[in-house]
Amino acid sequence: MSSAAADSVPTETVTTDVLVIGGGLAGLWAAIRAREHAQRVLLVEKGFAGASGCSVFSGAVILCLTPDDDLDSFMAEEAQDADYLLDPEWAEFVIRDNYERLQEIVSWGGPIPVDEAGQLVRRKGQVHGRPNVSRVAFDSAELMKFMRKVAIGKRKVKTLDHTSVTRLLVEDGQVVGAVALRRQEERVTVIRAKAVVLAAGGCSWRGTHFGHDMVCGEAYKLAWDVGAELMSMEFGNGYMATFRHADTHGQCLLAAIGGKFINKHGETFIHHYSPRDPAPTHLIPRAMAGEVRAGRGPIRFDLTGIPPAVREQWKRDFALIWRGMERSGIDAFAEPREWFPGFNGTVSAGAGVRLLDRGGATTVPGLYAAGDAASRSPLIGAGSGITFLNLAWAGVSGAQAGATAAQFARRQTEPAPS
Ligand SMILES: Cc1cc2nc3c(=O)[nH]c(=O)nc-3n(C[C@H](O)[C@H](O)[C@H](O)COP(=O)(O)OP(=O)(O)OC[C@H]3O[C@@H](n4cnc5c(N)ncnc54)[C@H](O)[C@@H]3O)c2cc1C
Repeated sequence: MSSAAADSVPTETVTTDVLVIGGGLAGLWAAIRAREHAQRVLLVEKGFAGASGCSVFSGAVILCLTPDDDLDSFMAEEAQDADYLLDPEWAEFVIRDNYERLQEIVSWGGPIPVDEAGQLVRRKGQVHGRPNVSRVAFDSAELMKFMRKVAIGKRKVKTLDHTSVTRLLVEDGQVVGAVALRRQEERVTVIRAKAVVLAAGGCSWRGTHFGHDMVCGEAYKLAWDVGAELMSMEFGNGYMATFRHADTHGQCLLAAIGGKFINKHGETFIHHYSPRDPAPTHLIPRAMAGEVRAGRGPIRFDLTGIPPAVREQWKRDFALIWRGMERSGIDAFAEPREWFPGFNGTVSAGAGVRLLDRGGATTVPGLYAAGDAASRSPLIGAGSGITFLNLAWAGVSGAQAGATAAQFARRQTEPAPS
């Protein structure tokens, strides 16, 4: 755009107490919580809040340990998978608080399955070779639609969809708002805010899964440009085993119900690379690469041994993927199919904006971070953790950051409208 054209772009200024950037699960939770402590909360989403990014396309399986579960055993396994680089107290807090958040959604009438007694419908089973991992499954699109309704309809969070934040504003070393482009109105909006929650997701652009193209690492760039520290970026180059011809997630559950990776000779090989088979998510691409390098590729996933009744359950749980396969005339269970390491970036990795505490504070005053935008190393260290922890992290860190940002905002004076 020429400078003359740039000068003619209409500009408006809006003022709010808390600005939330990103309308995934972390951002919606942040906005809902912030509104409990602040009068004015503005959520800005470059797509459509509740329908863009990873949350809406997720497999919607979330870890769910109740206070009666054996958290000590779970944490011992988690610490081992994390190469002992996690923060056990923080991780325990997230796991416990996640249970509270799920129940809170149920109490609002949200689409999370409960039994006749009103208890969360949980399934227990082996995942990544770890026994008895307890989780809850739901429809991610329905949940995100519901969370949007709670934020906008009930909590009166103001929302700007189709609006990309391009820059954070800093005054005297404190974040005081952001600049955004409103694509449909073709205008620039300067947002003055007393506190900002960055929940703009991770970085997996051109990744293999639905939702990946919406998260391009903008959160990291925005934070970095105002001097915020990032951490664990060396773990941000994540890959996850994926069906070659269509977006497929839920690999860990397929492995848990009998799926076997085989090399070109039909041999299983994961046990050569991992202490457990099924293996933690991050070890599978490494094992695949090892076999290909040794001339034993391509790698196929053999699902033929999975009993018919279990297949049907999987098809119901992962309806989006199954429908896609059906439409392409593919029956993944009929014969071994080629799988490869699909790019996942930071979406299930530890990389992100460094948090100083559970409240989501970053190293820059006035700036809070949550979800994939924030480093989840306290939870998964150097590993990939139980994959169902990602949504737990998004919900818990979002709610925490929203509350603390709003409390911070209450201590600030009204920003100048300049
Ligand atoms: C296919 C798939 C399946 C998954 N399955 C599971 C699962 O079963 N269980 C599990 O626990 N985890 C799963 N995950 C991971 C999980 O979905 C994510 O970790 C979680 O949803 C991240 O939530 P978030 O709110 O931080 O980010 P997102 O949901 O990605 O939301 C970020 C939002 O920010 C917006 N945004 C980005 N930049 C800007 C900007 N500059 N201005 C304004 N808005 C911006 C994006 O449009 C997006 O809507 C899965 C991920 C994928 C991709």
